[in-house]
Amino acid sequence: MPGCPPPLPQQSITPPRVRGVPADPQKFAVSVAPSRIDGQGAFAAEPIPARRKIGEIRGESISVREARRRARGQARIMIVEVSQRRAVDASRSGDALRFVNHSCAPNATLRIRQGRVEIYALRDIAAGEELGVNYGESHHGGRLRCRCGAPGCAGRL
Ligand SMILES: [Zn+2]
Repeated sequence: MPGCPPPLPQQSITPPRVRGVPADPQKFAVSVAPSRIDGQGAFAAEPIPARRKIGEIRGESISVREARRRARGQARIMIVEVSQRRAVDASRSGDALRFVNHSCAPNATLRIRQGRVEIYALRDIAAGEELGVNYGESHHGGRLRCRCGAPGCAGRL
């Protein structure tokens, strides 16, 4: 019909780039393999320069109360408290970095930013090196023997 305006497009054919969706947070390749420290470990699969972000540990967002309930009686947990109230349970996460073990001489560090759990390199890390972070205070409360093997190991977790 003449004079009839064309209908407004409801959807473009190619999906538009969604705003607010972050780029892949995993910046360097990390592989999972048996660790000399404990169970499985996370290993640099390529060289990582000092101070660069390696990636993130993502998981289920839960309350700290629920995190403590889940941690009770577990030898190995993959829960990080990201604030006074919230925690991330990475037990079912697909992120290789969830296997990062504690080390008293860490080559990486864990940084909590806006509820996200990020891992950064503390120094240049060679391909094949196991990644280790200092967990700081853990739910083990010093009852677990540390087997990181670093010179100057605190001995307990
Ligand atoms: Zn140690």
